[in-house]
Formats: sequence, structure tokens, C-alpha cells
Amino acid sequence: MTSDVGISIKGLKQKNLLLLLKLIATQPGLSRIDLAKITHLTKMTVSNIISELLELGIITEEEGPASRLQPANGRIPTPLALSSRAPKILGVLIKRGLYQVVLGDLAGNILESVTDRTQKLEDAGHLLHILFSGIDALRARAGGPLLAVGISSIGPLDAPSGVLLNPPNFWGIEDLPIVEEMEKHTGLPAFLINDGNAGALCEKMYGSGKEIPNFLYVHLKYGIGSGLVLHNDLYHGNRGQSGEIGHSTINFVGPRCPCGNVGCLELYANIANVRSFIAQQLPLYPDTRIKDPAAVSLVHIIDLANQNDLLAVSALNEYCDYLSHAVLNVLNILDISYIIMDYESNVPGSALEDLLLRKLQTRISDERFRTLRVLRSHHHGQAPLVGALALVADNVFQGRLEIPLSGGKSFAPCGERPGGSAPSAPLQAFEKA
Ligand SMILES: [Zn+2]
Repeated sequence: MTSDVGISIKGLKQKNLLLLLKLIATQPGLSRIDLAKITHLTKMTVSNIISELLELGIITEEEGPASRLQPANGRIPTPLALSSRAPKILGVLIKRGLYQVVLGDLAGNILESVTDRTQKLEDAGHLLHILFSGIDALRARAGGPLLAVGISSIGPLDAPSGVLLNPPNFWGIEDLPIVEEMEKHTGLPAFLINDGNAGALCEKMYGSGKEIPNFLYVHLKYGIGSGLVLHNDLYHGNRGQSGEIGHSTINFVGPRCPCGNVGCLELYANIANVRSFIAQQLPLYPDTRIKDPAAVSLVHIIDLANQNDLLAVSALNEYCDYLSHAVLNVLNILDISYIIMDYESNVPGSALEDLLLRKLQTRISDERFRTLRVLRSHHHGQAPLVGALALVADNVFQGRLEIPLSGGKSFAPCGERPGGSAPSAPLQAFEKA
């Protein structure tokens, strides 16, 4: 996107500084020479900015030779990384019965975490009490300045106004101004994002989608969450509620969903249906390792499918059949070729991705199929949580947040007040003409 707004020399330097900081945080191990090659900035410009970041204690020079792009002159370049003294981020994940608070950094690393699995909340105050307890415990362990709090949550929510609206089956908690409450309690800026969007942002900044300009992120657990990255930006929509693939219709004469729509994907692709399919098919698969269909989880099915359990493969095949209808609608509307699947599994394999790809193949042209990729996230189902850190990091890299430094000082790269959860821009260097 082009803009008619000019940029001052000071603004130019600040933008370049944030660009280099983003690259160092998200691609550790780059040297000054690598950065110059990637950004097309002069070596002098890069060196000056790196000296400033080193002086501020935000980055550090690592030991040992490790350059991705070897120099022609034979000098071993020094890899750069975030400093352990760089300011930290507090990240929060809100799910039904799972409340996680983490201390992390601009590189998306989780350093400490507190998890609470209270299964029934009394009211909004109870939720806040759980979150604040985690926040207070981690603040005490931060040992340095904190940037902000990123909150990744089930929806529906209104991200720009920072309000958790009325999540279904959430013990009647609604219209909770969670950003305001968090800012009041911590004295730090806070940002809110839908958990599916947080996952997509995490993949864009730190994961499998780093180099992909357009992709659909899909998170599978109890429900189906998703998020979209378009033109290298997270697509937020009006309220930060984009990517509700689980509530897109795959059967227009289907039953009514609690969301109000009919025939939603989640009414078909869900664990209850998978279990009932397995219970019916069990007698046909005497060699299966599934013993109790009523207790099996989706992740367990995926794990067993990756170990060639044929009943698990068959059950996952049916699940992917439903999923493929909704995914294909998104691919067709947006002309997207990449899908990133995220779920809590440490078992290697690509059974789910392969089955989904095969389902899609039968309904698109050969030419289109050649460009289609279904990738597996490297975050093992944690992308919505890491996305809470990514949300704050994104605001830093966009110059919307001051960077606090040790000793009570702060560094304002663009001198702007923190804003809402606005989207990020693609990497682009600005060299003085
Ligand atoms: Zn629905």
C-alpha cells in the first residue's frame, strides 16, 4: 500500500531501527552483513543502528561463527540476538477451563508460565482474580522492565475496545472490559486478540508462515479456530473476530448451531462425532490401539493416525472431509494456497495434513492443486498462547509502544502512544535518498 504521507529523517531512522530489531528477534543468528543484504540498507546504516541497539542493551552479540549468508571477504560475521536484558512481555490465554499466563520475550520465547485449570468460574471477578494471580507471580520473577500485556482469548470479543463480549458456555461472563481491568491492575498497556487470530499472528512472526504472504491458520482442539494472514498482515476484520471458520455453513439444510447459523462446520467436525464413528467401526479394526472410543481425544486420534493405526486414519479421514468443505470455501474466496494446521501433538507425521490435502485435491483443478500446501505448525498447539506475545511484539515493531529500559528509562522509537490491536506491515526498509 502506498501512502502520500512523508517521512522525516528521524522517522526514517526509527523505522529502520524497528525493522532491524524485528529481524533480529524473529530470525536469530543474523549478522550485520545478513541484515544489510536482507533490508538493502547500507552496511554503515545497519552498523550505526546495531551499535545503538547494543548500547541500549536490547540486543547482544553472540559467540561463535554463524552466518546464513557467508561474506565474500572471509571475515566471520558476528551473529546478533535479543539480549536477556531486553524488556519482557506478559502473555495471557483465556479458554474455557484453561487460563495461562506467561512471561516471554520479543522473540516469542516463553520463559516462565503459570497455568490454572479451574473448571467452573463464579463470575468475571473470579476470572480476573485467576489472571491477576498469575500476572503478579510472573511480574515478581521478570527481573527487568515489562513492555505490555497481550491477551489472547476465546470470543466473541471486541478487540479495538478491549471487551470480552459474550463467549458461549462461559458461566455468564459477558461485556467484560478486560483490557481496561488489566491496565488498571498492572499499570501496563494491554491488548486483546481473538485466540485464532493470535495463532495466525504467531505463525506469521515466529512460525511456519514467516515467509508466506497469504495463508489460513487453523487451530484444532475442542472447537475449530482460525485466522487469516493476507498480504503479510493479520486480517482483523471490524472487531477482531475474523476467521470464524468453525461457524461457516457446510450444510445449508443442517441443524441450527448455538451461534445462530445453520449447518456450521463445528456441528460435524467435532470430537463427539469422531467418537461415535470410532464406536461404530471398532469391530472392523481388531488391530487398532483405540480401546475406549468414549474417552479418546482428537489429538490422540491424530497421533495414532501418524503411527498408521487404520481406524484412527479412517476417523481422521471423515473429520477432514467435513473440514475440507469450510477450508475450500476460504481458499476459493481469497485465492489462498497455504494452510497451516496447529494442534497439541508432539508425535511427528503429517497424516492430518495429507488427508486434508487429498480431500481438497478432488475438488480443485490440477493447476491449482500444484500450488496448494497444507503445513503443520511447529508450535504444537501453542500458537494462540505465543500469539499473545506476538501481539505485543508487533506493537513494538510498529512503533506503537515505548520500549522501557533498565533503570526506569524508556526508549520511544516512533514517539507515539500505544494504540489498539492494529495490523502489522510487511518488512520494508527505508534508505535516505
Ligand atoms: Zn455455528
